[in-house]
Amino acid sequence: MFSMPSEARVVEVGPRDGLQNETQRVPTEVKVEFVDRLSRAGLAQIEVSSFVRPMWIPQLADAGEVFGRIARRPGTEYSALVPNLKGLERAVAAGVRSIAVLVSSSETHNRQNLNRGIEESLADVVAVTAAAKERGIRVRCYVSMVFGCPYEGDVPLARVLGIAERLVALGVDEISLGDTVGYATPRQVWERVGAVAGICPVERLALHFHDTRGTALANVLAGLDVGVRTFDGSVGGLGGCPYAPGASGNLATEDLVQMLHGMGIRTGIDLPALVDASAFIERQLRKTLPGRYLRAVTGPCSAPETASGR
Ligand code: MG
Repeated sequence: MFSMPSEARVVEVGPRDGLQNETQRVPTEVKVEFVDRLSRAGLAQIEVSSFVRPMWIPQLADAGEVFGRIARRPGTEYSALVPNLKGLERAVAAGVRSIAVLVSSSETHNRQNLNRGIEESLADVVAVTAAAKERGIRVRCYVSMVFGCPYEGDVPLARVLGIAERLVALGVDEISLGDTVGYATPRQVWERVGAVAGICPVERLALHFHDTRGTALANVLAGLDVGVRTFDGSVGGLGGCPYAPGASGNLATEDLVQMLHGMGIRTGIDLPALVDASAFIERQLRKTLPGRYLRAVTGPCSAPETASGR
């Protein structure tokens, strides 16, 4: 058994990555309450919303208002996705001090998702990062489809490394490597994340897994072994997966936290409070979320909860 860290950092992406994939409109006050409940669970970082053009993602058109109304807990970093300079201006006006930008390592996915090629997206990343750094704003960059792509199949590792190299040169604070459709296996994590860690200090790497095919937690373990200490999750597995209807998408934050705590790795998160946030958004959306821990403790086959998950 490899040596485990004593602490890990969990980034909650449900309010942004999760809700942007919901077709139903979620009222602003529900989003605010959702974020506030997540704050009470003690998360290190919450990705609250996205300052993308409202015509692209109308579900998150109220980003500024949500930021204006949430109760900020000291110790939690509140971030937003920002696709371009216009989005950055809106984010700055809303008091955002931490942003996320994105690029795909699959040309086809980048065009499908962002309506432009990888090089054009990297140009946006360069412009937004430079402007954010001038203002002292922290920048995370998502690199999606790192472990394979439904359009292109294998994604060359050299392309992933090339993108990572440029992001490091830009001074991006954190790179979140995404398994956007849940293709990754632990072996790939060892190989690919290990290779990226040769370019980028491992403490600046995060991993964003999807559990579409059931390998997300195994991949977290491989990530820990490589030395990564930051992992993304979405409560209840909120977010689905547009490529596999009905399948689970984002790794459920409770499943991640339950495993980390069970292994003696601290996260600062109160697991029952996290379940409370998850159950709240589940009620509001009137749908059953796929997260395994959530299902285990809230039914239909729930057993009395013990303190062991804390
Ligand atoms: Mg995701």
